[in-house]
Amino acid sequence: MQPCQHCGQRFSWKQVYYSTWAGYTPVTCSNCGTVHDITSASKVWVTVLFVLPIPIIGSIIMHSTSIRFGQMLLSVFVVGLILMHVLPFFLRYTYRGQKEEANE
Ligand SMILES: [Zn+2]
Repeated sequence: MQPCQHCGQRFSWKQVYYSTWAGYTPVTCSNCGTVHDITSASKVWVTVLFVLPIPIIGSIIMHSTSIRFGQMLLSVFVVGLILMHVLPFFLRYTYRGQKEEANE
């Protein structure tokens, strides 16, 4: 996980995970209280990872007669779940230059 750009304390997986799924809310360092925003490049990554598979999966369903819809749905669900949990490791945050109070 990425460290805080101010003090070097690593963000927890949980912090980044919740930030992502709460609509990219800023991550606050648990050590120094520095606020970090997600980079726009990371936002692009999230979009690509989740939007790109849709047409691919769609075409597999359309062209395959051996894969049942239920199985397909299950594998999409499993892949999505894995992606969601691995994603925080690849996201990058940048120092906003502000400090939250009452966190010393
Ligand atoms: Zn910090």
